[in-house]
Amino acid sequence: MTTSDSIRSQHDRALSELLLSLPEVQAVNQKLALHEAQGHLGVRRRLLSTSVRMSSAMAPGLNRTARQCMDILGVDMPVELYAYSSPHFNAACVKPESGRLFIMFSSSLLDSFDDEELRFVMGHELGHFVYGHHDIPVGYMLKGQPPVSPSLALQLTSWSRYAEISADRAGALCTQNFDAVARSLFKLASGVTSTVVRFNLKDFLQQIDDMQMTDDLVGTSSSAEDWFMTHPFSPLRVKALQMFHQSEYMKKDGVNSATLELGLESIMALMEPSYLESKTDAALSMRHLLFAGTLLVANANGSISKAEIEAFEKFFGKNEFRDDFNLERLRADLSTRIDTVNKYNSLPKRMQVLKDLCVMARAEGKANHPEIVVLKEIATRLEVPGFFVDQLLSVNTELD
Ligand SMILES: [Zn+2]
Repeated sequence: MTTSDSIRSQHDRALSELLLSLPEVQAVNQKLALHEAQGHLGVRRRLLSTSVRMSSAMAPGLNRTARQCMDILGVDMPVELYAYSSPHFNAACVKPESGRLFIMFSSSLLDSFDDEELRFVMGHELGHFVYGHHDIPVGYMLKGQPPVSPSLALQLTSWSRYAEISADRAGALCTQNFDAVARSLFKLASGVTSTVVRFNLKDFLQQIDDMQMTDDLVGTSSSAEDWFMTHPFSPLRVKALQMFHQSEYMKKDGVNSATLELGLESIMALMEPSYLESKTDAALSMRHLLFAGTLLVANANGSISKAEIEAFEKFFGKNEFRDDFNLERLRADLSTRIDTVNKYNSLPKRMQVLKDLCVMARAEGKANHPEIVVLKEIATRLEVPGFFVDQLLSVNTELD
């Protein structure tokens, strides 16, 4: 049986464990607990004075939905639902107080979302509670003074995006209706609900491919703003949920969980910071591999063409290519470079370098067989499954 625990994103689980063990996070939590003990927060008191409690008599459908979602996700606790006046679509679940859970919805969301869409939003918010996401006060820490270190900020935002994925999966488990899920995320992202705009899933997802293409042009994976975003870009969330719906959790004979998680990584890698600009040892090892890898892929069929030199210089700078590069030595040294990358870098990172090597393989339009052989060899040693390479190269076939 699919339980809320089984569908939690593995990265959410691992990163939250790591973050909760950090002294910085523990110190902030202690500070917040002290604050609470002194009676400062009083969420319920504040909700009662600023929002409208939707009792079972006032909103029977919504309360029923809440109970059904709680059954599915295994939450056993009294819940109170609130509405507050706002033109923005929003919902939130706050940390329970005196054994009671509070979920609030903006008035516009309640007015514009249909039953199934609301069920997804409800399940998403309950998911945050089920997975203990409130235990890491990410918003508080990112806004706090003095600011947290850049590396901790990156860890927090990266975790937060995976936490959203887990919550989305909880919502999807509650609705079992992918169309409703996609429509909700489209409404949340665009703010549009009118009949003038008709939601089209294919076009919405196309936006991701366009993102990938622009990224390929410069050889980087994302802009600086992306990495500090705590929520994954909406089309990415829809794509991630589409994969979830095709997994063993949601249908018989669906793809297994390992494949699902791997697919998720390749999507989320789009929002990870690029290693091309960073100065850490981890990033440096990736650039060393990229250097050798691009040259060996380019030279796979025995010579390096003008288009390939251009691709190389896009990564390493104008006039950086030289005829006297010692390709034999780079070849002999390749496994050492790969070992160093493996030592320092997580799977999504290693996938980034492979993605960039695929840019080189496509420098002349289509990757040829000897190039694919080199790519697959590097992929295997990086412990990245070969189908990731196929997937990256097939982007190109569609463009032809
Ligand atoms: Zn959320």
